[in-house]
Amino acid sequence: MFRSLPLLALLLVSSLANGQRTPIDSSLTISFEDYDPPSSLVVPEHPLTAASIPFVDIHSHHWRMAEQDLDKLIREMDSLNMRVVVNLSGRGGAALKGMMDNINKHGYQDRILCFTNINIQSIDDPDFLSATLEQLRYDHSIGARGLKIYKSQGMDNKDKAGNRIAINDKRLQPIFALAGEFKWPVLIHYADPKQFWQPHDANNERWLELKLRPGRKRDADNPAPWETIAAEAHDLFASNPNTTFIAAHMAWFANDLEYLGTFLDKYPNVNVEIGAVIAELGRQPRAAQRFFTRYQDRVLFGKDSYVPAEYATYFRVLETDDEYFPYYKRYHAFWRMYGLDLPKPILEKLYYKNAQRIVPGLKME
Ligand SMILES: [Zn+2]
Repeated sequence: MFRSLPLLALLLVSSLANGQRTPIDSSLTISFEDYDPPSSLVVPEHPLTAASIPFVDIHSHHWRMAEQDLDKLIREMDSLNMRVVVNLSGRGGAALKGMMDNINKHGYQDRILCFTNINIQSIDDPDFLSATLEQLRYDHSIGARGLKIYKSQGMDNKDKAGNRIAINDKRLQPIFALAGEFKWPVLIHYADPKQFWQPHDANNERWLELKLRPGRKRDADNPAPWETIAAEAHDLFASNPNTTFIAAHMAWFANDLEYLGTFLDKYPNVNVEIGAVIAELGRQPRAAQRFFTRYQDRVLFGKDSYVPAEYATYFRVLETDDEYFPYYKRYHAFWRMYGLDLPKPILEKLYYKNAQRIVPGLKME
């Protein structure tokens, strides 16, 4: 570097003398990860730290709710204008009871709702079904408000013979039927972004994410093709028309809202939530606004990972008409985003009215 300084100085002097530009080093390359120049665009900015109307977060995880300081959680929720949080990690049985006791003791039963979970690993046990249904009845009796199905349950869980348990396995059918009887919504995360199954190369939009989180990469058929896992979940929806489902992460169709619309048309008992896919919406503000207009009764607000500072980006995408602003994780979105500027009646449905319809007894006052 220093050895070339005299040459550089000479070039500078001669270019200034001739009124020319400093020559560009055409041999220089900058990696995709390094190239992230600050934007020079000057446009109005409306960063929001709280939602303009009270909202429900239908997709949150608080594993230590039996012990955690709920006053602190409520203070954070208040600062965001979050009226109700739904903790999907209720776990069921005694674990759920501990959580409900802590919530009830503090009088937060209208602010913090819990969904329960089931363990399908023991699907081969002769008493699996009766024990699971019994657990669900108990969970219902102590105040669980829905059932959450984790992605691992349709991908990683295996029966005793080592076969993957598909989420539409007929042995699970009575569980989803009971959820329907309870009027419990079933929030289900199945599969993952399609790019995790695709080659890790220059054509993969999640290249950086897979580099930084290599554990997310899957071979094309690990544990099955994306389409197979999605088809199993879709069959589950069709087989349980009396049960209401919430497909997490917009069913991984946020990058193809026209298709997502046909999906919602096909499965009238399915709704979607927007957790972790806000950057997909923010890169297509006009298509997204059309989608939210047409399917305004079918979309719920969810965030997934509970990080209070990150909600601001959701509010900004949904509520403002800001332009060309960044997402908070470059590995999810190397693009900039645009606000959808959703009209208030649509925002109200997204923020709480759809949740009120789907989760019986959910109170906003
Ligand atoms: Zn989640």
